Amino acid sequence: MSNKIFDCIILGGGPAGLSSALYCARANLKTAIIDTSALGGTPVNYCEIENYLGFNKIKGFELCSRFEEHVDLFDVEKFPYEEIESVDLTSPIKKIKTLNNTFEAKTIIIATGAKAKKLNVKGEIDNIGKGVSYCAVCDGAFYKDKVVAVVGGGNSALEEAMYLCQFAKKVYLIHRRDTFRADSIIQERLKQNKKIEPILNSTVEEILADKQVNSIRIKNVLSGKIELLKLDGIFPYIGITPNVELFINQIETDEKGFIKTDINMKTSAQGVFAVGDIRNTPLRQVITAVSDGAIAGVEAARYLMTTKEKVRR
Ligand SMILES: Cc1cc2nc3c(=O)[nH]c(=O)nc-3n(C[C@H](O)[C@H](O)[C@H](O)COP(=O)(O)OP(=O)(O)OC[C@H]3O[C@@H](n4cnc5c(N)ncnc54)[C@H](O)[C@@H]3O)c2cc1C
Repeated sequence: MSNKIFDCIILGGGPAGLSSALYCARANLKTAIIDTSALGGTPVNYCEIENYLGFNKIKGFELCSRFEEHVDLFDVEKFPYEEIESVDLTSPIKKIKTLNNTFEAKTIIIATGAKAKKLNVKGEIDNIGKGVSYCAVCDGAFYKDKVVAVVGGGNSALEEAMYLCQFAKKVYLIHRRDTFRADSIIQERLKQNKKIEPILNSTVEEILADKQVNSIRIKNVLSGKIELLKLDGIFPYIGITPNVELFINQIETDEKGFIKTDINMKTSAQGVFAVGDIRNTPLRQVITAVSDGAIAGVEAARYLMTTKEKVRR
């Protein structure tokens, strides 16, 4: 058991969590950051970021390393690879139990992000790692000169389809509607790419495999016609779902499960804040995640000042 009571513990070390840590530390709060994985968050696994102010183009991994290096200039205790078992947010001193430790804190900032939504079709879960992947950057190189499909119509789907063209000889882009909802600049770029074949008004019904994925069944939603498409891999990019399992029944969420906050990132639980992709925000991007973190760090300090529960160092 950790014998310290932290002023603030941040759960999740992605852009939102790292920004929270920076602002907490700068406010002289005794701060810790816990992640079930390495710090850095989702951007570590995708290719280039082109819309983070000040960087025309930067690799996700590089940007997040810079975030972490910045936090390292301050006295923040980092606990990567901590498997969290339970969280008690209800009392003034909040408790976090991991496999190896028990942590206590006066405030909590939740920054656990979101994960890829599943297609929920036959053959999907059984074939993860055998042709079904949710990360083009991690697995794209396995598909050199192969045929793959990306499913989805937003920015992520289109960007990842273009990324896969570096390796694959052909990329189907399957979308259930008749137009993509990605930004027009990305759609324009997609049109120039001869390796990508869009298949619109279509849904994936089944993923078929022997040892590896070999085909999918797709349905045209207008005609109802089912077609077999031969391929070697499929990458669903159909949206995200929040990592809220640990906080269920302790905190208010919206109908999709995202944590409700006010403009100061306060949640329904006293002394608990939520930032980044996990909260009910109108825009889920790195730039909004770090902005949330800044607000939450300052608000956590303000909360401790007003409740006079700041722990002395
Ligand atoms: C394919 C793809 C491409 C994208 N491209 C762009 C882009 O070009 N530009 C852009 O601005 N945004 C992009 N985004 C969105 C951007 O990645 C997110 O908005 C941003 O990462 C949100 O930061 P976050 O810190 O809230 O969450 P995350 O980055 O998801 O970080 C969450 C962290 O919490 C940890 N965690 C999860 N559960 C727990 C738990 N129970 N306990 C402790 N830790 C936990 C995770 O390990 C992770 O480190 C993209 C997203 C995807 C999926």
